[in-house]
Amino acid sequence: MLAPSTPYRVVVIGAGFAGSATAVQLLRAWQGGPLELTLLERTRDFGPGVAFSTPDPRHLLNVTAAGMSALPDAPRDFLDWLHARDATAHAGTFAPRLAYGAYLRELLAGAAARLPGVVTFQRRDDEALRIVDGRDERPATVVTRASGELTADAVVVAVGVNRPRTPPGAADGLLDHPGYVADPWDHARIAALARHERVLIVGSGLTMVDVAVTLGGEHDESPELIALSRRGVLPRAHRSTPPAHVTQFRPPLGPLTADRLAAHVEAAALAEVAAGGDWRSAIDGVRPHTQALWQALPLGEQARFLARHARRWEIHRHRMAPGVAARVRELRDSGRLSLRAGSLQRIEPLSDDAIEVAYRTETGVEQLQVGAVVNCTGPDPAPGADGDPLLSSLIEDRLGRAGPLGLGLDCGPDGELRDCDGHPSTRLFTLGALRRGQLWETTAVPEIRCQAADLGRLLAVRGAAVSAQRAVA
Ligand SMILES: Cc1cc2nc3c(=O)[nH]c(=O)nc-3n(C[C@H](O)[C@H](O)[C@H](O)COP(=O)(O)OP(=O)(O)OC[C@H]3O[C@@H](n4cnc5c(N)ncnc54)[C@H](O)[C@@H]3O)c2cc1C
Repeated sequence: MLAPSTPYRVVVIGAGFAGSATAVQLLRAWQGGPLELTLLERTRDFGPGVAFSTPDPRHLLNVTAAGMSALPDAPRDFLDWLHARDATAHAGTFAPRLAYGAYLRELLAGAAARLPGVVTFQRRDDEALRIVDGRDERPATVVTRASGELTADAVVVAVGVNRPRTPPGAADGLLDHPGYVADPWDHARIAALARHERVLIVGSGLTMVDVAVTLGGEHDESPELIALSRRGVLPRAHRSTPPAHVTQFRPPLGPLTADRLAAHVEAAALAEVAAGGDWRSAIDGVRPHTQALWQALPLGEQARFLARHARRWEIHRHRMAPGVAARVRELRDSGRLSLRAGSLQRIEPLSDDAIEVAYRTETGVEQLQVGAVVNCTGPDPAPGADGDPLLSSLIEDRLGRAGPLGLGLDCGPDGELRDCDGHPSTRLFTLGALRRGQLWETTAVPEIRCQAADLGRLLAVRGAAVSAQRAVA
């Protein structure tokens, strides 16, 4: 039998935006007896995660300050924080991502500094390697690299995205080559590529843009940058003055298919332009409906959307901040960044300073020689695909299974993981990008902050019930 004082124990794995916001929301909502909350982070930096730990001040948020509060019930929270530090900041400012990282560190530290007596909150520099059991009524155990085993009544898997998949055509020796960067968010390795004369960036989305902005530098000695992707198109840009309104989106009538949905959204954008407005108003109007639309598509139609329409949607929906778009234009105008359309055939190291690349275009196979290659093809959506021990073992141990279409993890409406047989867990939860198969749009702050608030409240309610039972046991 449990001693009356046994606290409700929650382990949150990962202290990027999703894990940090969940911890903050649980602490805000907690009204039960003793709570022991442990937040594990393997990088020692609590709050910013991958997106907001960039040291490069030219990497800007792609959402305005008005849209970036971490707390859905306090929409001005980030804007006020920013304005207190920069009097010129306003609702439409696209702030440096490193400023947002500082905001998250402070938010977490502030929550930790105001704990009620019944709550302990530990932030541990540690990596979770495996989750054991956690099914039925048994508590879960989180096995970590440094602290051994942690017993938990609830575990939140908030580990963000995988690294990109190895690009096609990678020859033997490429992955260990000093000029090959598999992790485009490894800022030190990216900065070190500035010494090369020519760098190939595989991919042309927002991650490529980050790399180009860093390596493009401010002076003429920076490398020549070549961005290669299948279509060779860039994300669109935000306007410096946001559109005056967001168009109300009306879903199409009748059975929903991927093609009908795409045509419907396209027609809404064209109608907006024809009426003298901005296509962005129409795209932004779809955003509150994207999760419901995704869930209304049958599985086969979701697959068709991914194959036929997702890229076009993403370049219009996830836009560059105006300042970043201007920098990319300068780099292209000066010839320091070029975009090429083609599919990779082969990437082969020739020596420590030379890699040969072959890619197929509409007219034939082109070859080029570069000093370095950065993989910016986007996160691999399959859980554990990059060899991450935690997610791989979750699947191997049958505590979790891949989500629809292999995107993220399968989970229920509250983010509760489904095991290999589809049974929802009462103890294991996730949020953010790992819910992609279920929700599709679940990777940006405006979506994740709501999931974190819901999950924090849910754990607080469950924890209060468990505390009450333990108090009388
Ligand atoms: C480069 C980039 C820029 C972005 N810009 C924006 C933006 O401007 N606006 C916006 O709304 N969204 C943006 N996003 C989307 C962004 O992903 C989300 O907003 C959010 O930051 C994701 O947070 P997360 O906690 O889910 O993942 P992450 O930030 O990846 O955090 C996961 C954390 O878990 C840790 N971790 C992983 N595994 C373990 C383990 N086993 N044990 C312990 N710790 C572990 C990692 O070290 C990491 O710190 C951007 C994303 C990227 C990648």
